[in-house]
Amino acid sequence: MKYNKWYEKDINTSILGFGCMRFAAHDGKVDEDKAIKLVRKAYENGVNYFDTAYVYLGGQSEPTLGKAISIYPRDTYYLATKYSFWNLTDPAEIDAMIDKQLANLQTDYIDFYLIHAMSKDRFEHMKKYHILDHVKKWKEQGKIKHIGFSFHDGYDTFMEILNYFDWEFCQIQFNYMDYEIQQGVKGYQELVNRHIPIIVMEPLKGGKLCGFNKNIANMFYEYSSDSLTTWALRWVASQKGVMTFLSGMNEVAQLDENLQIASNFVPLNEEETALVKKVSDALRKVEVVGCTGCRYCMPCPKGVDIPRNLRLLNDYEMYQSLGDVKWVYSMIKNNNAEAARCVNCKTCVAKCPQHIQIPDYLVKVRELVNDSK
Ligand code: SF4
Ligand code: SF4
Repeated sequence: MKYNKWYEKDINTSILGFGCMRFAAHDGKVDEDKAIKLVRKAYENGVNYFDTAYVYLGGQSEPTLGKAISIYPRDTYYLATKYSFWNLTDPAEIDAMIDKQLANLQTDYIDFYLIHAMSKDRFEHMKKYHILDHVKKWKEQGKIKHIGFSFHDGYDTFMEILNYFDWEFCQIQFNYMDYEIQQGVKGYQELVNRHIPIIVMEPLKGGKLCGFNKNIANMFYEYSSDSLTTWALRWVASQKGVMTFLSGMNEVAQLDENLQIASNFVPLNEEETALVKKVSDALRKVEVVGCTGCRYCMPCPKGVDIPRNLRLLNDYEMYQSLGDVKWVYSMIKNNNAEAARCVNCKTCVAKCPQHIQIPDYLVKVRELVNDSK
């Protein structure tokens, strides 16, 4: 396993981090045995960074991670979790949450505590309700060790937040396709210049970089037999200042592949970097909508499964198979979750970290599959 030192701090995190927002679940209930086995296998193969949030998987992620990891000596792994209690304004209620999180994780302290999914609105909320004062107090009390934030908004907001506090680390969305969106490469570079350690989320762009247009993918396969996943993860791990990338693993095969990449990691050379650039340029030409599948826009009051519908637009461009797209749409329709149910209320748009005009794209989906309803 490759480990990265956090500049002058005595912290060394594994390049592969375990993202605990995608544990396998059935009917809304996490498959605890499966999740625990995966977490423990990751730990036993050198992964030492585990990322969760109180709100993940309807509150099941933190306790599952706590159960899995607390059998090991506490100083052999790092826990990251988040402040995501945007509905709370009462100081006593806010203070009670950190103790719940510690109990969930079966620990006395959290190594890395992030203000979750910061955006312009959440930054204002954070200031108005003095959230950072609570978090700083928790640090003084020894309940948390390091304060950071995760981010989903534009560059200007990113800089405002960055300049507001002496953040100890930062979690951003970064992969070879997302050079321009959110904080973009400019925001990334700012973190590097300030020696703020970077944790990367969505290194595979919600799985989209693991399988795409065959003609474009062949550009990689003509160079080597490495998988598309390998290229994407090697790219992100090769970027200066990136200490750890998170992967939301829920299958053994996925964990094994990631362990293989992280254990035998070799940074991309110049020729390989240029090839990734060529591939990303080619992909950008065919992508219709930049949905990562994060599901922050859900639930839709009309039951539309937004990411599943949006994916059809990109799938069609990438694979050009209308039959397949129509078949998947019919499955979505069987679940009463098809694009045609959208009433253009726009509730989802404000929740999308990628700022996608969701209803407009849902109209395109309907047109593509010819669902006039
Ligand atoms: S705009 Fe459409 S997809 Fe979005 S929440 Fe409203 S009904 Fe659902
Ligand atoms: S539409 Fe936006 S919020 Fe919804 S899944 Fe896609 S990227 Fe996430």
